[in-house]
Amino acid sequence: MIESNTIAAISTPAIPSAIGILRLSGPRAVACAEGVFQAMDGRPLSQHPQRKLVFGCLKDKDGTVIDQVLCTYTRGPHSYTGEDTAELQCHGAPMVLSLGLEALFAQGARQAGPGEFTRRAFLNGRLDLVQAEAVADLLDARSRESARHAAGRLGGALSRKIGEIYSALVDLMAHFCAVLDYPDEDIDPFREEQMGATLRQQEQALEGLLSTCRRGYELNHGVPCAIVGRPNAGKSSLLNALAGYERAIVTDIPGTTRDTVEVGVELGGVPIRLIDTAGLRDAQDPVEQLGVERSRAAMEGASLILFLCDQSVPFTQEDAHILEQALAQAPTILVWNKCDLPSAPTPVMNLPKDMPIVELSAKDGAGLDKLEAAVADLFPKDTTAPYGELLSNQRQEEAARRAKDSVQRARMALELGVTPDALLTDVEEALAALGELTGQSVREDITDRIFQRFCVGK
Ligand code: GDP
Repeated sequence: MIESNTIAAISTPAIPSAIGILRLSGPRAVACAEGVFQAMDGRPLSQHPQRKLVFGCLKDKDGTVIDQVLCTYTRGPHSYTGEDTAELQCHGAPMVLSLGLEALFAQGARQAGPGEFTRRAFLNGRLDLVQAEAVADLLDARSRESARHAAGRLGGALSRKIGEIYSALVDLMAHFCAVLDYPDEDIDPFREEQMGATLRQQEQALEGLLSTCRRGYELNHGVPCAIVGRPNAGKSSLLNALAGYERAIVTDIPGTTRDTVEVGVELGGVPIRLIDTAGLRDAQDPVEQLGVERSRAAMEGASLILFLCDQSVPFTQEDAHILEQALAQAPTILVWNKCDLPSAPTPVMNLPKDMPIVELSAKDGAGLDKLEAAVADLFPKDTTAPYGELLSNQRQEEAARRAKDSVQRARMALELGVTPDALLTDVEEALAALGELTGQSVREDITDRIFQRFCVGK
């Protein structure tokens, strides 16, 4: 049920900054804003046109002027939340914002919960669930590509794609129902072939969507990338060089890193979650000293591997083992590190023909651009699909998979000669799963979980 009260929040971070925003939504949003805001021209806020910035003063709950601000309001339903909303653009002074918020509470507003503005937008039909999730993804975006895709989903790219599938299945259902309900009417007879074709097309469309899951997940969370190699190859140094700061401890004592260190970076435009892998075992354990063992554990789940070799020392059997494991696990880039030092004699190796090889120095940064280029080559941008046409989380994937399975069942049953009316349940299930995906029919506990991810004020 839609709550009818008025919520308020500070929508900008609590640090001194140029601008800080107080935000309101609900039936008394404009009245509450009016209670704390005094326009320079003396007229009440509601007598100014909506969506226009009005210059004036912000007063605290005792009526003392605490800032010069711009204020605007929008009447529902054509607002972000679908309700009356107001915004006060203050100076980004945490104290001013706190006093302003307190004053809004004194006017009858209450503190908004995490994601409550967007939740109201969803409940009032301003955004579907996929778009609401895109808002959170956009706020969390750590790379250009993830921001562009989140913006695409917010703009409705994924929702439209799902809508097309939904609408084709609804047409099919309508056809079934019409014939079942009015068997004596002169309605086109079932054309099984045509129905089979529709089911096949929608199954393919859903498969296409499901094939985007991995990329969507990687865009949001980063491509998991293990940096592996023998102790002292320079793994921590490379992680620090790519992160741009001393994220991992670097020493010349092998096995310094005691925990797995993770850091998000953008490499060649690809969001990457770098995992430095030393110290996965007890340092006392002689096995821990083996790069092979540590690398093996780190490579589990990696979608990209940077295999680091110190080119100033001879290539060993241990290097060969790590490389072998890496190649069996994920696309691997061979990185000859320490190119600032004289090279040891190059070993004769049986490398895969297309294996990318990069020479660099983690110490002085030479060659890092070549590593970026190699990563970009391995993860080319998909320029065919518009931004946002991809599933971006497990909830979406799970619902899309159920929809696909139901459509597939219906298609196979039809091919086996089951009468079309018997397929109705499967198509209904597919529609329900798609409805869940966009939030048309979704359980409240699921929406609760989705909006918990949000920050207050969004
Ligand atoms: P890890 O055990 O693989 O994580 O290796 P570290 O990053 O801790 O580096 C081991 C040693 O090699 C440290 O003394 C680093 O300063 C040094 N080192 C790392 N990369 C380079 C490099 O590119 N050039 C040189 N000359 N030394 C490096």
